[in-house]
Amino acid sequence: MSTLLEVKNLKNHFKTPNGLLHAVDGVSFKIETQKTLGVVGESGCGKSTLGRTIVHLTPKTGGEIFFEGKDITHIDKADLKKLRPNLQMIFQDPYSSLNPRMSVFQTISEPLIINRVERDRKKLSKRVLELMDIVGLSSDLANAFPHELDGGRRQRIGVARALALNPKFIVCDEPVSALDVSIQAQILNLMQDLQDELGLTYLFITHDLSVVKHISDNILVMYMGKMVEYTTSEQLFKHRYHPYTKALLAAVPIPEVGAKKERRLLKGEISSPINPKPGCRFAARCPYAQDKCRVEEPAFQAVEPGHFVACHFVGEINQLNA
Ligand code: SF4
Repeated sequence: MSTLLEVKNLKNHFKTPNGLLHAVDGVSFKIETQKTLGVVGESGCGKSTLGRTIVHLTPKTGGEIFFEGKDITHIDKADLKKLRPNLQMIFQDPYSSLNPRMSVFQTISEPLIINRVERDRKKLSKRVLELMDIVGLSSDLANAFPHELDGGRRQRIGVARALALNPKFIVCDEPVSALDVSIQAQILNLMQDLQDELGLTYLFITHDLSVVKHISDNILVMYMGKMVEYTTSEQLFKHRYHPYTKALLAAVPIPEVGAKKERRLLKGEISSPINPKPGCRFAARCPYAQDKCRVEEPAFQAVEPGHFVACHFVGEINQLNA
């Protein structure tokens, strides 16, 4: 299978009144066609900025982005306009990402009109109704407004809008986190079906590891702009190495009556991503931190084939927990 998207050492730093905020700090990965990379981490870890930077909604500070083998890092406006249909985004909050004054039909048809894909009114109508059907929205809702619909239907509009231009790659930025659990499952199933039917490739961003478990082929765990662990979804849920990933997994509830699991509450203050100190960014909260962690940044290295971790003491921690 071929690589659809590759990012190398991607960085995004923002100037703030207090210094330089390192939102994304040296992130590298590849996503193969029709695969899903789940990006997981707490709020503020830089995962949304990463997604927005890749689709050129936010300018980057450094690094490279390749799409279908072509370097799109410094793409100009005209070429970006041509590429834009292939790079789409589904936003987190279907309540605020839709224009309350636009009907379902107007919202889904807008990208087709702006990009001059369909000028013929009849063909435009047919395409919008087709998109509504693909995402499971009844054609009766074409003239409804967002406030008349529940969260699941609103997010289906967001999905239909993202699909309107036949994209190859979609950044899904916490697409289910604002929805009820039962609706979350419907949207996740829909996205998986669409991936199979339309050959889509996803970057799926979430703070909730349980959400990405089934939808992701590979998972990248981020902490304060840095990659801390990367492997296949299957491997991560069988065996994780980084203390932060272990704490994230320990926070996932088990849906069984009486089920018990070890709790790993993270203590300590979260360090600031503004002018971050040298060393491991997780050191202030890590129960295994040693002096070296506070002065030297850990390398992101393989602990097994295809499994990468950024931790100085990964071997010792693994033995302690064996
Ligand atoms: Fe913890 Fe040190 Fe490993 Fe960072 S490098 S995760 S502080 S043990």
